[in-house]
Amino acid sequence: MYKRKISALISLLAIVVLFSSCGKTSPSQTGTSDTSSTADTKTVRLQDDFYEHVNQEWLKGTTLGDDVEAISAFTEIDEKITTTLQNDFDKMLAGSLEPTTQGTTQFLDFYQMMLDVDKRNKDGAAPLLTYLEKVENISSLEDLSNVIGEFTISGMPLPMNISIIIDMKNSEKNLLVLDSPSILLPDKSYYEEGNQEGQKKIKEYEKSYSRLLTTIGKTEDEAAAMVKNYFKIDKLIAQSTKSGEEASDLAGYYNPYAISDVNSTIKTIDFSKAMEEIIGEVPETIIVANPKFLENMHLIINEENLQSVKDWMYIDFASQSSDYLSEEIAKAESDEAAADNADDYDKEIKRKAYENASELFQEAIGVYYGQTYLGEEAKKDVTQMTENMISLYAERLKEVDWLSEKTKENAIKKLDTMVVQIGYPDHLPAYYDHLSIDTEKSAFDNMMAIQKAVNQSQFSVYSEGPNRKEWTTHAHEVNAAYDPQANSICFPAAILQDPFYHVEHSRSKNYGGIGAVIGHELSHAFDTNGAKFDEKGNLHNWWTKEDYEAFEKKAQTVIDQFDGIEFSGGKVNGKLTVSENIADSSGLSIALGALKKEKEPNLEEFFTNWAAIWRKKISPETSQELLLVDPHSPSKLRANIQLTNLEDFHTTFGIKEGDGMYLAPEERTSVW
Ligand SMILES: [Zn+2]
Repeated sequence: MYKRKISALISLLAIVVLFSSCGKTSPSQTGTSDTSSTADTKTVRLQDDFYEHVNQEWLKGTTLGDDVEAISAFTEIDEKITTTLQNDFDKMLAGSLEPTTQGTTQFLDFYQMMLDVDKRNKDGAAPLLTYLEKVENISSLEDLSNVIGEFTISGMPLPMNISIIIDMKNSEKNLLVLDSPSILLPDKSYYEEGNQEGQKKIKEYEKSYSRLLTTIGKTEDEAAAMVKNYFKIDKLIAQSTKSGEEASDLAGYYNPYAISDVNSTIKTIDFSKAMEEIIGEVPETIIVANPKFLENMHLIINEENLQSVKDWMYIDFASQSSDYLSEEIAKAESDEAAADNADDYDKEIKRKAYENASELFQEAIGVYYGQTYLGEEAKKDVTQMTENMISLYAERLKEVDWLSEKTKENAIKKLDTMVVQIGYPDHLPAYYDHLSIDTEKSAFDNMMAIQKAVNQSQFSVYSEGPNRKEWTTHAHEVNAAYDPQANSICFPAAILQDPFYHVEHSRSKNYGGIGAVIGHELSHAFDTNGAKFDEKGNLHNWWTKEDYEAFEKKAQTVIDQFDGIEFSGGKVNGKLTVSENIADSSGLSIALGALKKEKEPNLEEFFTNWAAIWRKKISPETSQELLLVDPHSPSKLRANIQLTNLEDFHTTFGIKEGDGMYLAPEERTSVW
């Protein structure tokens, strides 16, 4: 079951686009619940299904365990990294390894507290109840208005979300942004009448939340009433949140409002005091990420709903923070079966303590990981590959026959000024200088103090403007990113390993892996979202009218190619996935082009590794969720469909009419 995470670091709304959906799922090699693969004992011809052919051994040998949503090349690396890091930090606690990097000592202090289960058990629910009292004490809409500032800074739940965003039209400036809070179910459609999967999930959550509430002191009746109120509010919020498709349009977040208009639209809440508390001034303008939510806020937050809103906040907070409390409370919510033997149980407790502690120290852990495990040679090599690809991209842009010279110049300017981040950042965010762990207090109180320090630090730079040097991806995260507002690409240390990259692998194999990833991120500068931002990261039209129309026509062919494809009981939404599909298509093509400039390119190796990076087993339920909200297409389709668009793929493997992987030349699509 999806577990709500604590909201540390939420105060920076980054509109960064990631390489892969980041649903972190812990892999396991046991259990029998997987039904997602079509591979069986007979050999799949590569000409019919390249993905299944390349990955058939892996698909046969990999089974999803109970409660495991997905296993992929991404989660396998993630699991390996987590185990390595946890071992290292355990050794540091035992004194056999020296903590070498900044931030490690603070992390170890907190990790130690999380490992002290006896103390957490002794502290019980008391630390949480102190905070929940603040929610219970709200007795009017005015009271609610009065706590918005404090709750936002402390990372406590509110029926709205206030954070900082870089001004999309002036990337030297910050703005505050008001958005709807995230809802519990994967997508708003799960709350619609007759949605059976939604009903099933609500029933499960009702049970787990009731258990959680009775464990922290509510009676059965009180708990039942509170849970009912919780879903009443969450459903109301859901009705005003964006659909996956709406959320995938980055420019759609840019809706500047005068603060006076915000207050008069909401009617029931006054934000001015909160703004003053959060950033020390009442700004003239704020960004409303979702105007529909603003219009409907008075239907959610009003006198009649006040108790329900409080119950929503109460449960949301208790649920987010249960992992930092006693074993009994954490278990009441998760209802996970206890491990069979004492050794496994001990291991599980330690892993959970590590994961929950590390959640708050991502930057420090990333820098440690990068400094310790990324070799200089790998960093140099990937930097070289990136440079090759950027210059090839510029060459290709010059040759594009459907763009005017003026638009080409502007596009090349974006490439020339792009910031490239590879490996890990060379410094930690400033708040690490002030983080200290108070071992006299509870783990929970420390978690809250850390959240507050992080949020305060984010909001304190409001008037200074954005720090463009900050990394938006952590070095130990298996992902990659393009940030349209910084015009930067990022390849963290974690993804610079097998199967994506290895110093000892051939260039052919590496270009089919990390090369295609690099090409993908570069191409985000020119996908349907990226095309709207200029080289400085501003929402600004740098196209001629004719050129943009030609671009949109090409993008439409990509929408049409994916739209409506049936997959795992659902259908691909062409519009939701268009920007990622364009990035995949041009990324693969640019990586192939860069490889062909090398000595002795081996296209078989290139295409085979491309298909290998997409190996994935996923439960049908999770797959259906992702079809609604994930801007990335399902992995198998990312692998196969882009190949069918390439002539080189057809010739390399002798794909002919009648083969499953064949696509007639006139049906092939490409944008760049
Ligand atoms: Zn992407």
